[in-house]
Amino acid sequence: MIDLQKAIKDKSSLVGRAYEFARTAHAGQTRLSGGPYINHSLAAAESLVRWGLDETTIAAGLLHDTVEDTTRTTEDIEREFGKEIRFLVEGVTKLGKVKYRGEEEQADNIRRMILAMAEDIRVILIKLADRRHNMATLGALPPQKQKRIAVETSEIYAPLAYRLGMQSLSGELEDLALPYTHPKEYHWLVEHVRERYEEREKYMKTIRPAVEKVLHDSGIKPIALDFRAKRYSSLFKKLQRYDMDIEKIYDLVAFRIIVSNVEECYAVLGAIHKLWPPAPGKIKDYIAMPKPNGYRSLHTTVIGPDGHFIEFQIRTKEMHDEAENGIAAHWAYEEKKGDKGYIQRIASFADKRELAWVEQLRAWQNEFAEPKEFLDSLKIDFFKDRIFVITPKGEIVDLSQGATPVDFAYRIHTTLGNQCSGARVNGKIVPLDYKLQSQDVVEILVQKGKKPSASWLNFTVTGYAKKKIKAALRGESGLLKKSSLKTELRITSEDSIGVLKDITAVISRSHLNILQIHSGSERNGRFHVLKITIDTADRDKISKLLVKLKGIREIKEIEYRLL
Ligand code: MN
Repeated sequence: MIDLQKAIKDKSSLVGRAYEFARTAHAGQTRLSGGPYINHSLAAAESLVRWGLDETTIAAGLLHDTVEDTTRTTEDIEREFGKEIRFLVEGVTKLGKVKYRGEEEQADNIRRMILAMAEDIRVILIKLADRRHNMATLGALPPQKQKRIAVETSEIYAPLAYRLGMQSLSGELEDLALPYTHPKEYHWLVEHVRERYEEREKYMKTIRPAVEKVLHDSGIKPIALDFRAKRYSSLFKKLQRYDMDIEKIYDLVAFRIIVSNVEECYAVLGAIHKLWPPAPGKIKDYIAMPKPNGYRSLHTTVIGPDGHFIEFQIRTKEMHDEAENGIAAHWAYEEKKGDKGYIQRIASFADKRELAWVEQLRAWQNEFAEPKEFLDSLKIDFFKDRIFVITPKGEIVDLSQGATPVDFAYRIHTTLGNQCSGARVNGKIVPLDYKLQSQDVVEILVQKGKKPSASWLNFTVTGYAKKKIKAALRGESGLLKKSSLKTELRITSEDSIGVLKDITAVISRSHLNILQIHSGSERNGRFHVLKITIDTADRDKISKLLVKLKGIREIKEIEYRLL
């Protein structure tokens, strides 16, 4: 890890030069929270250091507000620091100071974010570092702004961090937002939970020696063994599901055990179960079946002394780092393996599941033209709690909670969705509105030529499936769109037997196929009108073809239209 305080003092280093540049540019500016502006730039850079990012990103983090908030330009940045840093700073600047003023603008911001992510994920990491400090200093802003920024943070940035595997940051952002998004509930929570937390912590302390002993007896030396209180924000979410009944929440505090390798994770699980019986249905193997965001760990809840539930989370150091830093942890690993340059670094990232998700997100945003539709779908499809189900081939597919076999079918392929006539889950036939559970093996039964039913709109939960169903009901399925890549040529020519032969020869020499020929009935004075449909809608190909066709002496006029 880079020592930031040391690095900024070394005026010959990249980070030191970036610090000097930013400090001079922001000279005289102060933050509403007090103190010179550069403290904000430093705080953002500190997060990037903690997430294990490279010097280039840290330098860009220091510079992230110089274009937006000072007289410096992107050209100045490029002259001083080169193209790569200019790209990063420009990326962050383009994302803009995201303002929740209306859905249209917000949707637009998210689109930009997705595009930036797909280009270089580091742009988003800088943005998240920026948001983290802005949230930490939110108290200094006027109340109206506080609320807007907090809502945006909990609706967009925290879920985004979660999806990038940065659970710790995601939870932190949620915790920072909660007092502003739900002030009453937050105060209620703090009041009611404090005592209970203290009770639970006392209990954990009495348990701890027994845990240490059973691990020791099993020959396991944990790297870390500690327990920690559940975050207020995740407690709040859980309470909402339990009618705010705090008596029903057992896992206020959980043990976390970090060991050297995967074998030891399972050994720890076995050792703990030897000590106390597991509560039914509470063993979760996220090592064999990682969460969609990549989270890996073993979870178990056991029934401890006096009948109290105790939750354990068991993982390796690597899994722990990933859970804390997500995509940034991968970045760090790639860096350690030693890489030769920028391009290679991007490429080494490309096969990570996180990037696959970003790519998917980018493809989806093209599907939604309406800002509101896009936002709603984004919130439901991507940011809601996820489940993961398995295809008959063993591939894992992640879906929104509450998703049905029809949502699953559309997720795999539009045709599969349209022709879906039934489903088997874990080998048993289920109704189409069946709510899928994580780890279900889902098989879709199809019936050729079947059309979706309007009633499917009542139980599907993903915006994507709903959109495709509506399209199919309107008779605008993707299939029709594909076959509409055609052009109709309207050719007026002198009555000549040879002309059709010449035309078809030109078309086939252009490597195009004739789909249909209409000749005969239509006339234009003494001229014949031929209508020929060809299998392209590529304007380039068509204009080249037109030039060639106009070389045929008998042809007087050619018009065309795309079908
Ligand atoms: Mn900033």
